[in-house]
Amino acid sequence: MRQSEMLVPTLREAPAEADATGHRLLLRSGMIRQVAAGIYSYLPLGRRVLLNVEQIVREEMDRAGCQEVLLPIMQPAELWEESGRYTQYGPELMRLKDRHMREFALGPTHEEVVTALARDEVNSYRKLPFTLYQIGTKFRDERRPRFGLLRGREFIMKDAYSFASDWEELDRTYQVMNTAYCRILERCGLDFLRVEADAGTIGGQGETHEFMALADVGEDTIVTCKTCGYAANLEKAAFQSAAPAILTNKPKVNEHTEVLRVETPGVRTIAELCSFLGKNAEEMVKTLLYLADGQLVAAIVRGDHELNDIALKQVLGCEELELADDATIAAHSNLTVGYLGPVGLGLRMVVDADVATMKHAVTGANEAGMHLSGVRPGVDFPLDQVERIRFAAEGDCCVSCGEPLVFTKGIEVGHIFKLGTKYSDAMGASFLDRNGRQCAPVMGCYGIGVSRLMAAIAEQYATEEGIQWPVSVAPYDVHLIPVSWKDEHQQKLTLELEQQLMDCGFRVLVDDRDERPGVKFKDAELIGLPVHIVVGRGAAEAQVELGAHMLAVSGETKRISMKAQEA
Ligand code: ATP
Ligand code: MG
Ligand code: MG
Ligand code: MG
Repeated sequence: MRQSEMLVPTLREAPAEADATGHRLLLRSGMIRQVAAGIYSYLPLGRRVLLNVEQIVREEMDRAGCQEVLLPIMQPAELWEESGRYTQYGPELMRLKDRHMREFALGPTHEEVVTALARDEVNSYRKLPFTLYQIGTKFRDERRPRFGLLRGREFIMKDAYSFASDWEELDRTYQVMNTAYCRILERCGLDFLRVEADAGTIGGQGETHEFMALADVGEDTIVTCKTCGYAANLEKAAFQSAAPAILTNKPKVNEHTEVLRVETPGVRTIAELCSFLGKNAEEMVKTLLYLADGQLVAAIVRGDHELNDIALKQVLGCEELELADDATIAAHSNLTVGYLGPVGLGLRMVVDADVATMKHAVTGANEAGMHLSGVRPGVDFPLDQVERIRFAAEGDCCVSCGEPLVFTKGIEVGHIFKLGTKYSDAMGASFLDRNGRQCAPVMGCYGIGVSRLMAAIAEQYATEEGIQWPVSVAPYDVHLIPVSWKDEHQQKLTLELEQQLMDCGFRVLVDDRDERPGVKFKDAELIGLPVHIVVGRGAAEAQVELGAHMLAVSGETKRISMKAQEA
């Protein structure tokens, strides 16, 4: 490929808002451009990298025996109502109406569509197990799109869904997918860890693991034990603490909610807690409290309305409650303190808010079928019954071997879940087993962020000058750089080399531009192809300069700088 004919708009400086090293270099090397917050165009070089990553993912999915499909991005709201996620998903779900005012959602993930497909098409154990996958566009209206492709609102994901007749069958598929994920990340040249994880809004009844690319820019914290190899996401990590009141259960959080560690000495009642928190009001944007039996019991929410709204929805999502409508949610968002706890089959909610807000919230919640009771004023809920939850922190130790835990930052590039029958039950998918009994297929789902992978690679392979792409995903293998394209000898040798390299199966980019050598070298460093061949003064004697930043990718990655004279 001739560079003079290619759209590669390199930049000396990255736009000021570019907030991560890899992202700045993807912009500077002319690989991507922002169209709107969290929405990007892939330019020719960037598209080639993305396709290479996709191809690795596709090959490993095919090797794992999965079948490729393509599911629609625009999905009828009814499907999401069936699973109960139309309300639960919150503002991250992009909603729209067609010309007949029918409601749709842009798929942030495809459990609903794929479960409906299985419900309609699979009715016998003889058709199980199978796994479908697709590589395509997802939409999530992320509250804080950032770091370029790392957290986009429109992004490319590979998502796979497995259907099995029982848990053992699911366990086997989960293992196969686990291996496939490790292979994908190794082939991408990533330094990564597999960690125990939390199921988030996808939910499910079984275990779940995340694959974390190690990078300082990562928004996840990984907790590891160097002695026994324990590794978990902070949200999930078990730990031993020196503090006496150890909290056993982990709150469900995402980027919208966080659990703040607050010491509350002597606080025994909600009223006392409120007055205590009042002193630290600006810090207390969102705090969650949990009961020891794993049930969510309380949410203390302060701060702006949007945060309250999201945090409360998140909290309610934990109990799998549905709010009736936005009016109800808006009412909740005025609460300063909310308490939710399982009381019999219903729920109790104690709210410290003004009376009008309270009435509105209780009415709204009752309309939504929630059983709410408890009123202001003066509710004194004894906090001794509540064990406060905190996450593992520096100084805490591993539960199995007692060694100090280590904390590192990671980018969640992949996530695999044992869903069980959550979706098949909710959406009525079933099959007849060997004995003619009707059963729900046991599902698993497996996501990997293809565009996020590209960004994670950029992050791990970034240098001051550019991204040194691993061979496996680099847009081309060899950058052929004649110092002066107009020089007859250089041009001739360049074209000969190009032909020979292509004959050997290499992908070659020729910088045939009429640019100063300095400009060409700077661009070549930015683009970061694995091998550079500079055709200069020695061309008449068939001499070139060879530079390679990387000679191996799979397994351990070596970065080697070398200069050689090639006859
Ligand atoms: P995060 O915790 O970063 O928000 P998630 O847990 O919401 O991610 P999943 O629902 O597990 O994401 O989706 C599967 C994969 O899709 C993730 O592991 C990640 O690689 C990718 N992904 C999720 N959200 C985004 C996004 N906003 N931009 C790019 N990739 C994403
Ligand atoms: Mg998310
Ligand atoms: Mg996550
Ligand atoms: Mg996840």
